[in-house]
Amino acid sequence: MRSPVPDYLAEMLRACGDDAGALADYIPELASADPDRLAVCLSTIDGTLYRAGDSDSEFSVQSISKPFVYALALADRGLPEVLRWIDVEPSGEAFDELSLERDSRRPRNPMINAGALTAHALVGDPEDDVDTRVERIRRLMSACAGRELQVDRRMYESEMSQAYRNLAIAHMLRSYGVISQDPRDVVSGYTQQCAISVTTGDLATMAATLAAGGVQPTTGERVLPMQVARQVLSVMMTCGMYDAAGDWMTTVGLPAKSGVSGGILAALPGQLGLAVFSPRLDSHGHSTRGVRICTRMSSDMGLHIMQAPEPARSTVRRDRTLRRADGSLARVCSLQGALQFSSAERVLRTVADGRSVALFVLDLRRVSSVNDAARRMLAEMLRRLQVDGAEVALLDPDHVLDLAEQEVVRLPERWSSLAPLAGHVRV
Ligand code: GLN
Repeated sequence: MRSPVPDYLAEMLRACGDDAGALADYIPELASADPDRLAVCLSTIDGTLYRAGDSDSEFSVQSISKPFVYALALADRGLPEVLRWIDVEPSGEAFDELSLERDSRRPRNPMINAGALTAHALVGDPEDDVDTRVERIRRLMSACAGRELQVDRRMYESEMSQAYRNLAIAHMLRSYGVISQDPRDVVSGYTQQCAISVTTGDLATMAATLAAGGVQPTTGERVLPMQVARQVLSVMMTCGMYDAAGDWMTTVGLPAKSGVSGGILAALPGQLGLAVFSPRLDSHGHSTRGVRICTRMSSDMGLHIMQAPEPARSTVRRDRTLRRADGSLARVCSLQGALQFSSAERVLRTVADGRSVALFVLDLRRVSSVNDAARRMLAEMLRRLQVDGAEVALLDPDHVLDLAEQEVVRLPERWSSLAPLAGHVRV
């Protein structure tokens, strides 16, 4: 069977309607781009890339570089230091606004140009030269895309020839001491980062890397720490679409970033990366057909991040108490599914209700995963059962619950089946 996903993507391209909007013309090289190119790609976090349209055609990444450069600044300097210089509040302003927060003099967020220039300057060592910073950024973006990306020199020269606004912003940043380098160097480096060439396929893979918490889907390499990926996605969610962020949040509902060459990158954490490309832009500087495709796909495929998930099947699959030959009680609690806070709470509530037993068996054979919060909650439950005098055993052949010695009174006994309880009567 041929997968229906590429056919669905091709259908999205057919259905996205007539093009409206205009090419970005403040960068001469973009004004001469072919306006009719159109592509959509979807990458799963385990590395399958689906594509439709002109998915191999290259364009400059522009502002879609901003989340990755912010990520690099965070990885290099740590969150507290980056927050000292760049806030995380939506600005409600256009991307190229000359703006700083009134009291702190910080750029409002790293997705608008003022914050992005600052993030660029925070990469690596403050003494680094332009080439060193750009090379580090190029390497990170290449690692996320899974192939070597290059700076398009023509695009860079073209944008530099008209970079009056970004130079004004950088001089403003320097005059308030937000950046310490020569403003012209910061604009030169930032403009090179924006001129890195990508395809729609690259962007979908880069989005999937963020969606996977920083692990590149095809190489399996951890390219960013998990906490950095979370911070970047959070800022994309609130600030990535500039002065259309609220509209985007309510309709598409995915952390995203757009660029003036016509790309949009969006990520659904834990599931997939999505990218679209179509050069004509709306008044916010977002690809018009790109926004339409993302809106339609989010609604068709239920991708909105605020869409409440279907209630999971009951976590406690079975809960039985048996009487052993010596008259003492044994309780066997069998769980299923993926355990996180709310499902672990359900288990704690059920177990707290029962009478005291001499033996408590936690059967995890049908549990697919246990996140850290659930692991700590279950460990505490087992510890308390032990303090109350119960012996505890785990039926966990796949080791989904990894207990540390200090988390329980005694490490539970591990069983491979319920055979030790055979013959005991149910009460
Ligand atoms: N290089 C562009 C600029 O700084 C990027 C803007 C964008 O893509 N929104 O103006």
